[in-house]
Amino acid sequence: MLNSFLKDKFHTKVVKLSLDGGATCPNRIHNGGCLFCTPQGAGEFTDAGSMAMQIERQKQRLASKWPTDHAIAYFQNFTNTYGDVKALESMYSAIIARPDIVGLAIATRADCLDDDVVAMLKRLNEKTFLWVELGLQTIHDPTLERIRRGYNHEVFHQGAMKLRAAGIPVVFHMLLGLPFESRRDFDATFDYINTFRPFGVKFHSLYIQRDSELFSYYLASPMTLLSEADYVDIVSDYLVALDPAIVVHRLTGDPLRTMHIAPMWVRNKLHVISAIQRAYKEKLAHQS
Ligand code: SF4
Repeated sequence: MLNSFLKDKFHTKVVKLSLDGGATCPNRIHNGGCLFCTPQGAGEFTDAGSMAMQIERQKQRLASKWPTDHAIAYFQNFTNTYGDVKALESMYSAIIARPDIVGLAIATRADCLDDDVVAMLKRLNEKTFLWVELGLQTIHDPTLERIRRGYNHEVFHQGAMKLRAAGIPVVFHMLLGLPFESRRDFDATFDYINTFRPFGVKFHSLYIQRDSELFSYYLASPMTLLSEADYVDIVSDYLVALDPAIVVHRLTGDPLRTMHIAPMWVRNKLHVISAIQRAYKEKLAHQS
């Protein structure tokens, strides 16, 4: 898991601070955005204000639970390599110059990795501990068209390969329960991840937020959402099969309660995580 990976690497507790760098997303601007996207660009837990203010607020919020001066600056919402490359590099460079920031996590799209962007990421990677997060979601093009991600799996693969060639660690997001996908489809996506061996993986289940287009889609033609039992079973299977070199960054999503519609079990993150861990241990014990 990411927590223990970071503890081993930095020999202390390291927290992640969710920061809003003022990014936008070409898919929202030109294509209406992914169906599950929200006005916050899939990042509901950031604050407004200058970078210094955001960092202090996030640190204060975490201080009672995890008082530490070692943090990863995490740019999650929207597409954080889309925009003026010089301005982006100057923002990221100022942040990693702070003594309390020990690393940088940048979420982006695989179709926003032009050569100048990858060169910037490579420079940042030489100065700090960097990883880049990409929304794989699924490897199946018909689903990708349906959810309007805006590019196909081959583009994703080429983008991930570019990062790998530049020596930049990459984290893939996998979304379970997408419309019209079966367990066999999920397994094929998981196999791709396991074969690629990215630095990390995040597992999520599809859930409905009131402020996403998926909500209207759901109202018009309600789809069957994954049950907690199925999700726990699938993710625990994947943990057993996962290449041990891949670091698990997330076991389940974290919806904003005020906007969340369904399924209700997703709200109880700790319950889901402990059920996955229990099932994983049972499956491991059964294997041996
Ligand atoms: S890539 Fe991210 S920010 Fe852009 S539309 Fe999709 S979910 Fe939203």
